[in-house]
Amino acid sequence: MGTTYQVTYVSAEWRATAPRQQLAKAIEDLLVEINQSMSTFIESSTISQINAATDLEKWHPVDRHFQAVLQRSREVYEDTNHAFNPAVGPLVNAWGFGPENPEAFPDEAAVHALLAVVNFDSFEFRESPPSVRKHIAEAKLDFSAIAKGYGVDAIGTLLEEHGIQNYLVEIGGEVRSRGRHANGHPWRIGIEKPAENVVADRTIQMVIELENSGLATSGTYRNYEMKDGKRIAHIIDPATGYPAQNSLLSVSVMAGDTMTADAYATALMVMGLDEGLRFVEARKDLNAYFIATDESKKLVEKRSAGFPSAANE
Ligand code: AMP
Ligand code: MG
Repeated sequence: MGTTYQVTYVSAEWRATAPRQQLAKAIEDLLVEINQSMSTFIESSTISQINAATDLEKWHPVDRHFQAVLQRSREVYEDTNHAFNPAVGPLVNAWGFGPENPEAFPDEAAVHALLAVVNFDSFEFRESPPSVRKHIAEAKLDFSAIAKGYGVDAIGTLLEEHGIQNYLVEIGGEVRSRGRHANGHPWRIGIEKPAENVVADRTIQMVIELENSGLATSGTYRNYEMKDGKRIAHIIDPATGYPAQNSLLSVSVMAGDTMTADAYATALMVMGLDEGLRFVEARKDLNAYFIATDESKKLVEKRSAGFPSAANE
């Protein structure tokens, strides 16, 4: 997934079915399996093969990971009015944030042409046997906005299968907590302060306690380029084909599972602060914390009513 991961658990409660190294190996194997299914950076992966395929009759078999992510993607796509769109890959590439390295930003005509291809409805899913078929040859899938969250949940489930009930799992900033820290307190998570220089300015905006939840953060403050005074970042508004342009620097979403939090965090970045906050307030299962800039470029923070406030230090 092009990032790092960390697994922390309370071993006293582990009614050991496997020693630590064996568990670490099982986690590694699981992540390799997920990448082999859904990484667009691996040419032989299932997703890469579907993306390269031009045969519109062929059903491509998919594994349980692919199936779970595709199904959840479909739901989030629908209830975010397509702000979350895992078919957006060709646009991500054209803007220079995918596996390809184009020399220039696309012009209006190129964006317009790609909008016709960026069509999630052109993927048809069949349950038995689980398989996918595409109706537009150039259409491509990109699960970058949800797969890390899925990976976190999958590791969590693996730990639970080994009898571990108190743990914290993190992949590239997306986290899942269950139970408590060994000190008896809830797990504590730092939400990063948006800063352009990650190495020099890695500071924490706020620490929260995370109890039996998923938390995912989406942001444009790190991965972007400037063009005509505008920030060109890796989150694309599928309605326009252009990188999302709004005041948001980052959104952290809390949900029961991390796959859900991950997908909605990306969608909220597309919606922007006002619409995003309204969207989350109307949902019992989601909470969010927004960091944006105001007219004078000062940082402002907004949170939905159920998002935890900063934990006492
Ligand atoms: P995240 O860091 O979870 O917000 O995911 C961002 C990544 O998802 C980008 O680097 C793109 O590969 C992809 N992406 C960009 N825009 C969208 C979108 N509107 N819906 C779904 N995936 C997207
Ligand atoms: Mg995401």
